[in-house]
Amino acid sequence: MAGEPQAGCLFCKIVAGDVPATVVRQTDTVVAFRDINPQAPSHVLVIPKAHYPDAASLAAAEPTIAADVLREAGEVAKQEETDGTGYRVVFNTGSGAGQTVFHAHAHVLGGRGLEWPPG
Ligand code: 5GP
Ligand code: ZN
Repeated sequence: MAGEPQAGCLFCKIVAGDVPATVVRQTDTVVAFRDINPQAPSHVLVIPKAHYPDAASLAAAEPTIAADVLREAGEVAKQEETDGTGYRVVFNTGSGAGQTVFHAHAHVLGGRGLEWPPG
């Protein structure tokens, strides 16, 4: 069923506590944890607890949870104190855009200058 945990999904395993992660925030619907390979001094992933393969499919099926992800991204930036200098929220979607984990997630990056456009 849509949204149910998927066997073999790394982020479903993190939600279940079967794979350890450094969790920085958690709500009923969302978990935020540090990226294992940070690309900035602050690099946190915000994921829905429900499994959807990407942000668009999450938003189509569960718009309230998609909004929770966006709100939590902002709360992460406040907590990490990157909101003052600026931070970036990224949803890589599709392997051509660098998506490697097919469970929707927002990257929240900050703590350094972030050039635009990105590489
Ligand atoms: P994507 O490339 O799909 O947009 O982002 C996936 C992110 O998950 C990558 O930035 C990668 O470093 C991170 N990642 C992969 N495996 C793990 C893990 O086991 N733990 C954590 N915390 N992050 C992971
Ligand atoms: Zn999953």
